[in-house]
Amino acid sequence: MSRGRASRPHRPSTCPSGKVRFRDRIAANLALATIQRRDRPGREKLEVRVYRCSDCRGFHLTSQRSRAAR
Ligand SMILES: [Zn+2]
Repeated sequence: MSRGRASRPHRPSTCPSGKVRFRDRIAANLALATIQRRDRPGREKLEVRVYRCSDCRGFHLTSQRSRAAR
């Protein structure tokens, strides 16, 4: 058998950045909605945005609002 499982470039289930990875935008938005639903006053970091990651080709949540381009 020549079909090794190592020769195939598999997509990582985790991201090099260490962030939680979602397989698609829908899953990310779902998680985002869940987080925002249980938002509490005083909580500093609130994920507010979904963005696509070029490293893992997945989606992540970020607490940073999209910066205004200067
Ligand atoms: Zn990533």
